Amino acid sequence: MCGVLGIYDNEEVIARIYDAMLTIQHRGQDSAGILTYDGKYHIKKGNGLVQDIFDQRNIYRLRGHVGIGHTRYPTVGEGSVEDAQPFWVNYPFGIAAAHNGNVTNFLELKKDLFEKSHKIINSNCDVEVILNIFAEYLERFTNKEFSPEIVFNAVKYVYKRVKGSYSVVIHIANKGMLGFRDPYGLRPLLFGSKEEMVNSFAFASESVALDVMGFKNYEDVGPGSAVFIDKNRQVHRKKIINKPFRPCIFEYIYFARPDSFLNGINVDKARVELGKSLAKKIRRRNLDIDIVVPVPDSSRTAAIQIARDLKLKYREGLVKNRYIGRTFIMPGDIERKKSIRHKLNPIRHVFAGKKVLLVDDSIVRGNTSRSIIQMVRDAGAEKIYFASYSAPLANPCVYGIDMQTSGEFIARDSTPDQIAAKIGADVVIYQELDEMEKDVRKQNKHIHSFCKACFTGIYPTGDVSSEILRTIEKERDDYKNKITETDEINE
Ligand code: 5GP
Ligand code: SF4
Ligand code: MG
Repeated sequence: MCGVLGIYDNEEVIARIYDAMLTIQHRGQDSAGILTYDGKYHIKKGNGLVQDIFDQRNIYRLRGHVGIGHTRYPTVGEGSVEDAQPFWVNYPFGIAAAHNGNVTNFLELKKDLFEKSHKIINSNCDVEVILNIFAEYLERFTNKEFSPEIVFNAVKYVYKRVKGSYSVVIHIANKGMLGFRDPYGLRPLLFGSKEEMVNSFAFASESVALDVMGFKNYEDVGPGSAVFIDKNRQVHRKKIINKPFRPCIFEYIYFARPDSFLNGINVDKARVELGKSLAKKIRRRNLDIDIVVPVPDSSRTAAIQIARDLKLKYREGLVKNRYIGRTFIMPGDIERKKSIRHKLNPIRHVFAGKKVLLVDDSIVRGNTSRSIIQMVRDAGAEKIYFASYSAPLANPCVYGIDMQTSGEFIARDSTPDQIAAKIGADVVIYQELDEMEKDVRKQNKHIHSFCKACFTGIYPTGDVSSEILRTIEKERDDYKNKITETDEINE
């Protein structure tokens, strides 16, 4: 998962793009980059958090009325700064790009580009491949009059060749800026425009970034659709390919900020609904509960709703150190295990002698839950019920959210009772899959179905063979082993 931004303005953009980068920091903390254009491309990328990468010196250098920003979360790749986005090519025209998603035929395309088009792909970053394929199409039109149709056909060419999920922002020097979503609209992308300043436009992964940049009007870029702003600042929209819309349901459960709107659905409201339906399920179990405690941060909204519906006391009992990144973003399990402990600490008196309902968004490997439950028991809790407001996760995501391998999912071959035993809870309660989809869909009935492949194993693009899964899992395992080895050497 990553965060992507684009801004096409008539004044310097760096201040706003920097602020907006901070609002999409939660989408990736591995590396970040900003590219601007003022007749030439200026770029600064680095590993780590936005605040650590950009300083006055490089901010001053990032001049221009056009900018692209990116926060990165590694799925495949070494996590090196060479893989950080945005990327750009000088021919034709000068084209720069950043994206959010995961290209499932990346290695095949990289090979094709090398063998057939004689282009070297210098990174393990998907967007370098998308950018080169897009550029390859435009190369045929350098002597013809430039038009939005050419741009849309280049996107069509990308759709034909590139598989997986991708929400892309592209700048074509002196021609315009473009945003497009993959055919199924798996990853989010919004387009914002300013009424009072007719000439200002932006793209972002989450509406919160458009909010802070001052864009009050925004719309979702449709699945298989593109929005192109030409050099005269005319906006052109086109639906290029017609596939079923399958936005990622996990954005609402975990990834996106509660203040964001994605696909016409507010994330906070979706979590309220998820809390309501889970409360009904918990009520049917007739458990003796004293307090409801969220596992911070994503589960707060749902936990408050559950407490309200069950007429129980809501308490904050786990204090999160806000200066530590999300543990799952760190590669390698050793790091994960180490970091959960110093990330959360219990408020002992909240738990002492209590029967506690802990609420979390999901259970993946079970390591986080097990550590938390142990922590809460050590703090004196009498009983611990653990509720997940998403259904059991059991399949790897090939579309850009941390690539667990199948064997890692605790719910893969276990029932909730077996999971309870494994993580040390008295009871484990999961959200029902159908309820979960109904809850999120409530705000936008035009979405017939979401991608929920990590729950069901049914991948909406229809092209995820077991061979692709194996290849991706192997890459991920190799990468993890590599990290783990270095870890041990460094210890
Ligand atoms: P686990 O069960 O893997 O030890 O940890 C689950 C916790 O990680 C939950 O609290 C959940 O908030 C968080 N989480 C959410 N999404 C993801 C994800 O995509 N990958 C991982 N590893 N953890 C996630
Ligand atoms: Fe989202 Fe899960 Fe689909 Fe991945 S597999 S895109 S996390 S719903
Ligand atoms: Mg959590």
